[in-house]
Amino acid sequence: MSSHKHTIVIVGYGGMGSYHTQLIEENGRLEVAGTFDLLEERRSASEAAGYTAYASYEDVLADPKVGTILIATPNDVHKEIALAAFRAGKHVICEKPVAMSSDEFIEMTQAAEAAGRVLMVHQNRRWDEDFRVIKEMYDHGTIGSLFQLESRVHGANGIPGDWRHMKAQGGGMLLDWGVHLLDQLLFMIDSRVTSVSSNLSFVLGNEVDDGFEATLQFENGVKAIVEVGTTNFITLPRWYVKGTEGTGIIEDWSLTGRIVTRNQESEKLEPTPIRAGVGLTKTMAPPSEGATITEALPPAAELSSSFYTNFADVIEGTAEPIVKNPEVLRVLKLIEAIFAAAETNQTIKDFDRY
Ligand code: NAD
Repeated sequence: MSSHKHTIVIVGYGGMGSYHTQLIEENGRLEVAGTFDLLEERRSASEAAGYTAYASYEDVLADPKVGTILIATPNDVHKEIALAAFRAGKHVICEKPVAMSSDEFIEMTQAAEAAGRVLMVHQNRRWDEDFRVIKEMYDHGTIGSLFQLESRVHGANGIPGDWRHMKAQGGGMLLDWGVHLLDQLLFMIDSRVTSVSSNLSFVLGNEVDDGFEATLQFENGVKAIVEVGTTNFITLPRWYVKGTEGTGIIEDWSLTGRIVTRNQESEKLEPTPIRAGVGLTKTMAPPSEGATITEALPPAAELSSSFYTNFADVIEGTAEPIVKNPEVLRVLKLIEAIFAAAETNQTIKDFDRY
């Protein structure tokens, strides 16, 4: 491990750029050498927070003490900022979605390779605890074999900010939240995606989607339903997962949740019929007493290191990236398939074959 700290300049000192300064401060291996933003007011905010504000991107690239550029601008300019960084011999951490298309990303990875520099995408939600609890259940069969996963994020605030409303800047919820939720699923489920169907919502009348639903079928039999909504005044749980031996629910990011599993010890008793609405049902009656066990969520699966520690190890050549570029490319291609499925109202078959 190198004894000196790796210096980073954050390009785009907006909401996420300023959050990165806090996260980097918490990691002893990296330090923020400054920021660059096109807006004077954001340069002043950077100086006020104690971070040198470079006057131009050329000045950043010409500064030999800067080893890494962290890109936290709107999505449409990620590529050009990254390509210039590689030409100047810098490493790049790039915010998600890394690019506007899979073709753009291929250009970026080729430029990184040609320059012998690292390009790592900030798919930080692989570290979210709610996701890692589900990953633990998936990897270890806590509730049997997971065969259906429903992953949702719901808000009621519409699309925030300015550029997120614009198609040309890479706006819309599929590129914004979708990229996180899809990245989590493809990272966890080691199987080919055999079919993709989807629909986008335009409730708010924007030129970009304000939400979407996508259903993915995996070759190993797992089905995943992914949904993002921005006009949900009552939210559905963050995760609802079904296994062959039980069901799990995680309501929110505070990890309110539980698992309910079949009680192997109890003799198989028929449920007692209940009145449901104006009818009678045994099928939908609660399981008879003792037939199930309700437990707390299992502890979250661990990843080998934090995003930033992993990045420092990768540029020192001592570790493989946890977020690998071929995985990022596959997610971008899946997003393109989801757009195509919604546009044509058709199921895309054998997604991973192409
Ligand atoms: P924002 O609008 O708050 O900030 C963007 C900043 O970039 C603005 O200050 C703007 O002036 C500046 N900018 C625009 N073009 C520039 C250029 N060419 N050079 C320098 N500065 C430029 O946006 P945000 O919410 O911070 O999002 C920024 C990026 O971070 C997006 O790619 C977004 O998807 C991503 N993001 C990621 C997460 C996450 O959890 N990983 C969360 C939020 C945002």
